[in-house]
Amino acid sequence: MMPVLAYGSRGIYVELLQSTLKKIGFYYGKVDGIFGKQTLDSVYYFQSQFGITVDGVVGRATWRKLEPYINGRVGRIVPTDMSYPYEIMMMNLDALRVKYPIIKVGYYAESVMGKKIPYVKIGEGEQEISYSASMHANEWINSVVLMKFIEDFGDAYENNSELFGYNVREIFESRTLYIIPMVNPDGVDLVLNNISHTSKYFRNAIEISDDYPNIPFPKGWKANINGVDLNQQFPADWEKAREVKFAQGYVSPAPRDFVGFGPLTEPESLGLYNFTLEHNFKIILAYHTQGEIIFWRYLNYNPEGSEDVAKEFARVSGYTLINEVKTNSYAGYRDWFISYFNRPGYTVETGIGNNPLPISQFEKIYNDNIGILITAGII
Ligand SMILES: [Zn+2]
Repeated sequence: MMPVLAYGSRGIYVELLQSTLKKIGFYYGKVDGIFGKQTLDSVYYFQSQFGITVDGVVGRATWRKLEPYINGRVGRIVPTDMSYPYEIMMMNLDALRVKYPIIKVGYYAESVMGKKIPYVKIGEGEQEISYSASMHANEWINSVVLMKFIEDFGDAYENNSELFGYNVREIFESRTLYIIPMVNPDGVDLVLNNISHTSKYFRNAIEISDDYPNIPFPKGWKANINGVDLNQQFPADWEKAREVKFAQGYVSPAPRDFVGFGPLTEPESLGLYNFTLEHNFKIILAYHTQGEIIFWRYLNYNPEGSEDVAKEFARVSGYTLINEVKTNSYAGYRDWFISYFNRPGYTVETGIGNNPLPISQFEKIYNDNIGILITAGII
């Protein structure tokens, strides 16, 4: 159910309203989630053009007229100019599934707060590839990247057209892509202020944050809602990760860098671990922000072909390859994948600046990364 919005309303649905009105040429202001004068004028204009009572209130009738544009029956689905919490992603996934039957949606885990964590399956080929994003809460912009990729793939398949110069139908037949757009939905919702302030999870997060006053709240939050850094949870030298992070002062649940009370204690990390074991991924791409760099090494492991693919990713993106072995970094999802399977895994750090990166960087990030996303599907 869409909420009723009016002058003075704020939040994600105001952003959705503004983004949608903008998409269809009724709004030229900022997508800022604040229903002010300019938004009101746009709503008046939209209502007058669509034969709805011109009252400036966005209720059932107005949402119904906006719905074809939100769900892509007219135009595109994934908004790339607004905040992207879990519920907007889920709305988009439903719409994508309906519009493009090749897009299959499944769930591999439930978050701490009980959100079903989706994956998207595209393709019928034997070779499996995994993409994941937003394991770190304040890196949510990459969820939009993967969702847009899903939409572009569906669209190119439908039209039998190319994406980054490749025929996606060939990829579809020879590969199966598993795309996990939001590993850490509770964390993303926390960062985007989309968790009720009266919920026990929010209050607990505030308490955790109080122990780490130097980390801005909620923008500095990377962990899951329990204050565990999901990318420090995997059984790849987890004890060493604990040593390193404890020495840095992360000794209890924290907005970032707390390794947990053991490996895989969190449903989000355990779910991803099991999902990965149940598949046969040839390579994985773990999307993070920021720095425009690509990590491909873990300790002295050197899976066959790993370096060549890394070079190709760097070439098509313009990102910098990090060839040095990080000496104090362990227990990440990719670290575990490389060391357990001895297959290539990559961390792609998109964008530049401070997390969370502003959505205004989306276009550059997407254009830089579409080559990597496609290349991973053809190697
Ligand atoms: Zn990260």
